[in-house]
Amino acid sequence: MSIKIENLKYIYMPKSPFEKVALDNVNLEINNGEFIALIGHTGSGKSTLIQHMNGLLKPSSGRIIIDDVDITGGEVKLSDIRKKVGLVFQYPEYQLFEESIEKDIEFGPRNLGLEQEEITKRVKKSMEMVGLDYETYKDKSPFDLSGGEKRRVAIAGVVAMEPKILILDEPTAGLDPKGRDDILAQIKTLHIKYKMTIVLVSHSMEDVGKVAERIIVMSKGGVVLEGVPAKVFKEIDKLESIGLGVPQVTYLMRSLKQKGFDVSEDIFTVDQGRLELLRVLKENRK
Ligand code: ADP
Repeated sequence: MSIKIENLKYIYMPKSPFEKVALDNVNLEINNGEFIALIGHTGSGKSTLIQHMNGLLKPSSGRIIIDDVDITGGEVKLSDIRKKVGLVFQYPEYQLFEESIEKDIEFGPRNLGLEQEEITKRVKKSMEMVGLDYETYKDKSPFDLSGGEKRRVAIAGVVAMEPKILILDEPTAGLDPKGRDDILAQIKTLHIKYKMTIVLVSHSMEDVGKVAERIIVMSKGGVVLEGVPAKVFKEIDKLESIGLGVPQVTYLMRSLKQKGFDVSEDIFTVDQGRLELLRVLKENRK
């Protein structure tokens, strides 16, 4: 399961006075089993790009190839793409509408025309995958939940379609620090335990530093940087020039290094930072 994007260009409202080139000459590949973070400033084209990955938007030019099938060709059914690539929108809880959590999560699988037994099986499994106990939550109203729980229900609704690739647009937006960490940990579980390929859209370097294996950086409708966190976070000047930065702890390590401490600059999480500082303290005591 992979997504290949070739020379993608997308123009909103073409040939009108409001014409806007949102993506231009985007080339990238997402491989089976990866955990990718797609980062960029507001307006850089992230949402437009991910909507191409599950066929919601059609390129103005270029190709999207999913599992060796060109989905821009015309013959591919959107429902077939959705079964492979699940997209969780920003603030997905706004789309919850059923009276119970179970009914809400059932909505997608039911639209696939599955038998009730299979539907219930999928609801149970997807609730387990997002960390919600089936018996405790199934009959509750989605509207009685906390922000983080609502978001889990919305994610379960997409997971219940059993996609191989899960794309999440700013899944931590608007949550408190605990809610953010919980959702990120859950997404990591989907990746590690359930082997889902993940594309996490974010503009939080702290979030990205915690979870991503590879980072794709966008600016003004194009990919400007790409690679493992250690490579991308070295490009502080470039990231800052496009309105981004690196995790706070990486800045801290950098300034300690500049002051003569022998610390690694490849540190992106507070936990890594703590261990590194302990290591340096121990070395200095010797
Ligand atoms: P991001 O997700 O990185 O914030 P978007 O993909 O939403 O970026 O936007 C990319 C560019 O396309 C921006 O300049 C934005 O204003 C423009 N854009 C997004 N959606 C629309 C739309 N529906 N109509 C016209 N322009 C749009």
